[in-house]
Amino acid sequence: MTERKTRDCPICGKPADPAQRDFPFCSQRCRTIDLGNWASETYVAHSPITEADELLQVLSEQQQPDE
Ligand SMILES: [Zn+2]
Repeated sequence: MTERKTRDCPICGKPADPAQRDFPFCSQRCRTIDLGNWASETYVAHSPITEADELLQVLSEQQQPDE
């Protein structure tokens, strides 16, 4: 068994070994990059909620009684 079936890593295009833990990525680094891409899209989707939370925090700070 000298021939291994490989797939190209979706991140860097290098051949990824199916025997590897990080398949279909060639390495943990590419796996992390892919996860980061996905997470950044998620972050963008949730960004308005975060901004609303920050806005509420700012408003509550401004509503302190000034007596
Ligand atoms: Zn890769």
